[in-house]
Amino acid sequence: MPSADPITPIDASDCKHAWHPFTQMQEYFSNPRLHLVKGEGSWLIDAEGNRYLDGNASVWTNVHGHNDPDLNAALKAQLEQVAHVTLLGLNHRVASELAEDLASLTDGALPRCFFTDNGSNAIEVALKLSFQYWQLMGREEKRGVISMRGAYHGDTFGTMSVGDSSGFHQRFTPWLFHSKIFSAPSHVECAGQVQASEVQSSLQELEKILQNESSRIACLILEPRVQGAAGMRQQPQGFLKSAALLCQKYQVHLILDEVFTGFGRLGSLTAAEQEGVVPDFLCLAKGLAAGYLPLAATLTRESIFSAFQGHFSEGKTFFHGHTFSGNPLACAVARASLKKLRPMIQSGQLTESASLLGREISQNFATHPQVCGYRQLGLTAAIDFSPADRRRHWPVDLRAGYQVSLLARKHGLIIRPLADSILFVPPIAIKPDEIRHLVKAVRLAVDEVLPKLEVHSLS
Ligand SMILES: *Cc1c(COP(=O)(O)O)cnc(C)c1O
Repeated sequence: MPSADPITPIDASDCKHAWHPFTQMQEYFSNPRLHLVKGEGSWLIDAEGNRYLDGNASVWTNVHGHNDPDLNAALKAQLEQVAHVTLLGLNHRVASELAEDLASLTDGALPRCFFTDNGSNAIEVALKLSFQYWQLMGREEKRGVISMRGAYHGDTFGTMSVGDSSGFHQRFTPWLFHSKIFSAPSHVECAGQVQASEVQSSLQELEKILQNESSRIACLILEPRVQGAAGMRQQPQGFLKSAALLCQKYQVHLILDEVFTGFGRLGSLTAAEQEGVVPDFLCLAKGLAAGYLPLAATLTRESIFSAFQGHFSEGKTFFHGHTFSGNPLACAVARASLKKLRPMIQSGQLTESASLLGREISQNFATHPQVCGYRQLGLTAAIDFSPADRRRHWPVDLRAGYQVSLLARKHGLIIRPLADSILFVPPIAIKPDEIRHLVKAVRLAVDEVLPKLEVHSLS
């Protein structure tokens, strides 16, 4: 089936057996495959020894780089103790230690930690806890969910139901439950310069839903400050605080999906902390175990935990769990990562990296003929492509973003596209010269690929 012939045994095996996530496999097989064998800091190395900057932080997870000596040591030390112990009715030491560390993220306001093993599950748990909580309070009619336009919370049925990523999930709509969607604010900034901002209509729409329906709504779920999967769509500072106040006013839980924004991505441990907001549920995953191992956590209040206490026969138990919830190896790496991350934040290193990324993006792309939009916040950024006259677009199958990302490999960069955009999500510990390499490699790829696509544009 592959049209680009297999060239090595590993490639032959990939072609014969693999089915990659979020990947059109026909397209994958018709282009050269990249097989990585090693990581070093911000770099990934292929079987031939070529080096690529990991501009995607291995799908938004990597914090301290690959093959970090401190994280490796923590992992090995735990491995000498025990590799896995279930948390179903049992405990292991490092789960308790990490839960205590995570309680400090909210200064103890969310002391209860429910471990799982991926972001979707962290959200599923928050939703189910919210639903069950209102049932236990005798308010069964409070079972609706409000979410924001463009939301992405994962690929399981529950998280697809509360998401708004029709491009990914449209096929499954007949099986989803309904959630109320309100408009996202319109806000664009890069390197601290605000290009456009309008929040009032979004907040008004949210309040209107709450006014009319809060007695039937369990929770509002939000990705604070940046909706990553929607293409790094931003909300201005202060928006989250306003939304949180509305939740309080109308007695609706606030679930913050910080699966993407947590652990340094926006320059602090959480986005909630930047805005002085304490949600009812805080969902953490991607960067939690530094991009080493699958681990997720849903943090919540003592008052919510208390509602689930009772005799077994009262049926208040939260019946949810995953086989590898709170795996000890992952917890040990997460603890070591957090210990390293705190001083990096305090030293101002992340603020400097973020502003360098913003400056490089605006210098290279603000006036680029084929770049119709660009934005950056923390260590997240995106650029959007269109034909130079802006009135037309490229046929989907030209795959403008994908072509740029393939060519970037030639310039020593791995980066992911989203339709006709490129998303910049480097490891949190990326160094200044690596940030310059990241933006330059995209610029070289853009200059090489996009002018050739001009002739294909449609009216
Ligand atoms: C990645 C992501 C998820 C889903 O996490 P998985 O570990 O892929 O299930 C949920 N929410 C946000 C904001 C994400 O970026």
